[in-house]
Amino acid sequence: KKGLVKRDVVRIVTPGTVMDEKALEQKENNYIISLAIEKDTVGMTVADISTGYFSIMQTTTKHYTQTLIDELARIHPAECILPEELYNNAEVLGILKKERDMNIFPYALWKRFADDAKQVLTSHFKVATLAGFGVHDKPVALKTAAALLGYLQETQKGTVDHIRKITSLPTGECLLLDRSTMINLELFATLRDHETKGSLLSVLDTTVTAMGGRLLKQWLRKPLATAPAITLRHDAVAELVTNASVRTTLSEQIENVNDIERLISRLAVGLGNGRDIINLTSSLKTILEVKKLLSKLTSPLFQEIEHMISSELHDTIVYVQKHIVPEPPISIREGHMIQQGVHQELDRLRKIVAGSRDWIIELEKKEREKTGIASLKVRFNQVFGFYIEVSKSNLALVPAVYMRKQTLVNAERFITPELKEQEEIILTAEERINDLEYTLFQEVLQHVLSKVAILQDAAESIATLDCLVSFAHNAEKNNYVRPTLLTTGEIKITNGRHPVVEQLLENTQFVPNGVTLDDKSQLLIITGPNMAGKSVFIRQVALIVLLNQIGSFVPAEQASLSIVDHIFVRSGASDVITSGLSTFMVEMVETAHILHHATDKSLIIMDEIGRGTSTYDGISIAWSVAEYLVSQQKNPKTLFATHYHELQVLEERYPTQIRNFHMSIVSEKEQPIFLHTLAPGGASHSFGVAVAKLAGIPDSVIGRAKELLQELEQRNQSSDGEHSKSVSGDSGVVVPPPQNDKLSNFINTEFDQIDISTMTPLEALNTLAKLKENLKKLA
Ligand code: ADP
Repeated sequence: KKGLVKRDVVRIVTPGTVMDEKALEQKENNYIISLAIEKDTVGMTVADISTGYFSIMQTTTKHYTQTLIDELARIHPAECILPEELYNNAEVLGILKKERDMNIFPYALWKRFADDAKQVLTSHFKVATLAGFGVHDKPVALKTAAALLGYLQETQKGTVDHIRKITSLPTGECLLLDRSTMINLELFATLRDHETKGSLLSVLDTTVTAMGGRLLKQWLRKPLATAPAITLRHDAVAELVTNASVRTTLSEQIENVNDIERLISRLAVGLGNGRDIINLTSSLKTILEVKKLLSKLTSPLFQEIEHMISSELHDTIVYVQKHIVPEPPISIREGHMIQQGVHQELDRLRKIVAGSRDWIIELEKKEREKTGIASLKVRFNQVFGFYIEVSKSNLALVPAVYMRKQTLVNAERFITPELKEQEEIILTAEERINDLEYTLFQEVLQHVLSKVAILQDAAESIATLDCLVSFAHNAEKNNYVRPTLLTTGEIKITNGRHPVVEQLLENTQFVPNGVTLDDKSQLLIITGPNMAGKSVFIRQVALIVLLNQIGSFVPAEQASLSIVDHIFVRSGASDVITSGLSTFMVEMVETAHILHHATDKSLIIMDEIGRGTSTYDGISIAWSVAEYLVSQQKNPKTLFATHYHELQVLEERYPTQIRNFHMSIVSEKEQPIFLHTLAPGGASHSFGVAVAKLAGIPDSVIGRAKELLQELEQRNQSSDGEHSKSVSGDSGVVVPPPQNDKLSNFINTEFDQIDISTMTPLEALNTLAKLKENLKKLA
């Protein structure tokens, strides 16, 4: 450029607004959130500017901090913006700061956008009312949406037109997973190493596009909770399982589709180039092929997707092909993008430049003849423009009209008035070509972006198909079955398997196990020593239920499943060192959360609850939690794994709801052999010392532990003698009498003293009245 280059801030890049492909994980959304809390109401907007995702949520709850913790765990945002006064709330800031990789930004202009939220949103989305998005009755969330939109526009220094809809899942339409459940089920990363390998995602994700990979994660974070939505996906997966040839072709085609979600977003914020447009159209061609293929499938979801892929895409392809060359350069400022025949002036200028090349060749020939220098060259470079180059040995032949311009080691470069004039013509033409091409490119871009809605629908279609194909592929490869949906509340699994552990076992076969959870088996107490397979089993039930609700088939021989509203997984052994709370405190906080929030439709997995404190405390807490879960109005289905064998007594006390199961073990020469088979009844022995020996604890320590164990067991037996009605387990704890013992005490003491044979009728009546009164006091 001649003169001063104009300087300006053209874009502000923040962790949540990065658009650079290299800075983004392909199969990962880059979320930015906007947060407001008003009294007990949490409003949040979650967006990904690199894909156009924009979703809001609002909940009113006394436990809003828990909601915030769960949402952060679900989303893992790169950035959070919030009003300044909320930033000054130490409790909220403390929670936000735990999300280590998240940029927290108190947005100074928050109020400006939030106060005018409806106006900001309706004008951006070009709608008269927000009712169409189903979000109009969520005022706190709408404020966050408006503020975030304002922030995105400010950072992008322009509109963000590719954000064209607000999504919002009504509560009740998705299965809730809280933070600890997501972590304990190892959905996205393993507990121990935080690695993807070994997580559910690592087994499940056989998607072939980045868009599919991102959508699968969204499905996992928010599984479905309504039968029609789940059936829609099941039907589609079933069809792809049976129709393997269509599935293979679909998969091959989908694989050729670029990440058009991000391409569109880059183009929309002015970061795209000619190659992006060409990549977009080549993907659109494939998508139209996919559309054709979909017409061969009959499931309603495929029909829906087929409709979502608009035939109008064809017009866009034709338009782009007409306007943009097949292999444009990366830069949009240096021409070579626009096709011949698009613009008359452009064609004329190009002719000048092209003609000028001939002119140069001609000039070179002419000057060689004139000067007799056979090696004379006419050339061009960016710094000096056009020049005539003559080698040093021929300098004597150079005519006077040549003006020296540059000296090299072996040659001199010259310019002539004639050359200067031609240079001016060409450079001016080229500059004009570049400017004109840039303008024309912007026009093409605007035309393409005017179709952003159908382009994004096409992208969403491909992402959905990718997930469905991936489910079908897994179902076939890993031998999954289609679950039957029930409305009875029962969960029945025959020969279920843990989807991840079954893949990871190297030398052994996974042992499948079934389960029935219903009104009569509402809470299962599962005992067995460490390493017996309790944790694997109870988690596999949760994972099967979860897989069902994302629309996948499940690892089992057969599964009949009711839809659950919330899965809670609480593990006494989870890694919480970094949280600043003691393990036991965390365990109790999470247990409290479960007891407050579980409903009839919830599935609770309790693994070794009460482990983080003394045995007496631990058993007491585990015991009372189990009693609570079967004696409230709400009776969630619960799997309770414990090595406190004392809890087995609960089956006798709640025979209509609680069942004992154990993981089978056979003992050979004092060594346990784990069969990993679930069997009815309780375990009798915990093999703790034997397992410690297997783990390589020194013999002397094992020997001493055996002595101590014997001593404790003997002591326990003698105390058992004194409490004939109590039961004792390996821990040496004497189990408390049943809850209604007050009544039996009453009967024993009060009735024992009565001697009916010596009573007068009046005395008998008085005694009866007194008994009645005492009984009332007891209640
Ligand atoms: P627990 O919770 O009883 O201590 P885990 O559930 O952690 O035991 O299981 C211990 C190990 O046993 C697992 O890591 C796995 O290797 C193996 N295992 C568990 N269940 C099975 C099974 N059903 N089939 C085969 N191996 C299993």
